Amino acid sequence: MDDELSMYLSRVGLTFPGLETTIDSSDYVFFGVPFDSSSSAFPGSRYGPKAIRDVIQGMELWSEYFGVDLEEMRVYDAGDLAVSHGDAVATANMLKRAVQKITSLGKIPIMIGGEHTFTPFAALAAGADSLIVLDAHADCRKDYLGNPLSHACATRIWVDSGGKRTFQIGIRATSREERDYCKEKGIIQFSPFQLQSDSFMKSLTDFVRKSRSLYLSIDMDAFDPSYAPGVGTPEPFGISPIDVLRIFEAISGANLVGFDVMELCPLRDPSYSSSALAAKLVMELYASKKARLTRSGGGVRSHRALSHWQ
Ligand code: MN
Ligand code: MN
Repeated sequence: MDDELSMYLSRVGLTFPGLETTIDSSDYVFFGVPFDSSSSAFPGSRYGPKAIRDVIQGMELWSEYFGVDLEEMRVYDAGDLAVSHGDAVATANMLKRAVQKITSLGKIPIMIGGEHTFTPFAALAAGADSLIVLDAHADCRKDYLGNPLSHACATRIWVDSGGKRTFQIGIRATSREERDYCKEKGIIQFSPFQLQSDSFMKSLTDFVRKSRSLYLSIDMDAFDPSYAPGVGTPEPFGISPIDVLRIFEAISGANLVGFDVMELCPLRDPSYSSSALAAKLVMELYASKKARLTRSGGGVRSHRALSHWQ
């Protein structure tokens, strides 16, 4: 838009992160999946994409942890997926086509949910061989209330569809059936109570090193509800946002083929604190990759993170 005109008028419909970008000049394509039909406790995650776009408009585009200025974030907001409410199969098929297209353009998809059910479809369409999931729940039920396309089945769909390697962080709410399944399938799991141990970071870096193509998924209920009350199925004793910055740092060298932040439920988030955290996750993930590139390019080590794990 004309510079002077844009002083008086702004386009209706906010984008993430509110910068003027084109898809050609971007490395990442951001999009929403406003679908929450299988939400079992509290629905409303369909409003997640809208909330994250709203809240980012008032936030500074700067990463203090990684020392990266995000004013020139190469992220293009492509809008929301044309979901078919109540029809997870049709929506998953649409999603697969969208992700395949984004990947074929050489861009990395960033998906915002919406329910967690769609993560395995995005990860497989992006060509991932490895999945790291932050979640309170194992999401490994065969079905939930008779529905095999439930958000309670997301990680199991990935494994049963050929997803090879799985690493779960923050797990603390599982059924006996899920615990047996995860053991049988060799899914690596760390609870929030184990994240300060040396074995966690060693296992994570080892998993990343052996990944050819990595997809990272964050279910917002991985966080303690004191940090992120705006979720459909809150679980106490969760992880902290600082834990996630250290995890981003540890996986920043991976070949990341996709990233998502799911289960943000703005109807349970009157303060917008959970939405702000979700927006920050996208920014900090971007910053972690940027800081890594700067370092490997021989530039000054720009981030100031002093993780004792590294
Ligand atoms: Mn989940
Ligand atoms: Mn969950």
